[in-house]
Amino acid sequence: MYDDVLKEMEKYAEENNIPIMKKRGIKFLCEFIKKNEIKTILEIGTAIGYSAIKMALVNKDINIVSIERDQKKYIEALKNIKKCKLEKRITLVLGDALKIDLDGKFDMIFIDAAKAQYINFFNMYQKNLVDDGIIVSDNMEFHGLVNEVDEIENKNLRQLVTKLVKYRKFLEDNEEYQTKFYKVGDGIAITYKKDAYDD
Ligand code: SAH
Ligand code: MG
Repeated sequence: MYDDVLKEMEKYAEENNIPIMKKRGIKFLCEFIKKNEIKTILEIGTAIGYSAIKMALVNKDINIVSIERDQKKYIEALKNIKKCKLEKRITLVLGDALKIDLDGKFDMIFIDAAKAQYINFFNMYQKNLVDDGIIVSDNMEFHGLVNEVDEIENKNLRQLVTKLVKYRKFLEDNEEYQTKFYKVGDGIAITYKKDAYDD
């Protein structure tokens, strides 16, 4: 059942130009969730619910809250989650993640929304992370463009990629957190609090 729904979603995403996670990227992320026994996830950027459903299917103890600001995508995601009977474990929030104040702490925060806002998402939602929690950021390579910013002719795109490069630097230079970058999918960053693992 899940396979059919997921296949349909992949097709819908392709046809409607919705940037859902790439196959290898989501596989990597799901393995990471399993290995680290992550149970609670906050996702910023639901789109049509593809990554949320994939992550929820890792195992039955996983609960996800996911935020989406676009109403059409939010409704599409609701439908898809229902089809998979995951509505008890995936809670969707409709709204701009930069304007929402969420309670509760999560084992993992997955940032996959507006690329220009990553630093803001990170700063805003770190209060919702458990002490030994993990922040995952998607699209760190941005189709390889992060390595050739100066050659991008389109101004808006150049500005966007410049912001992503700034975010990478923000993570690298962060005193409190440590980050590893993986070139899988469209590039994934895994960030931990420094003091959580050294004793
Ligand atoms: N995680 C999804 C893909 C998300 S695409 C998957 O892999 O299946 C990015 C989504 O983030 C888009 O649907 C966009 O509408 C949403 N988004 C962008 N900025 C946002 C914001 N400030 N608050 C909430 N959602 C946002
Ligand atoms: Mg993404």
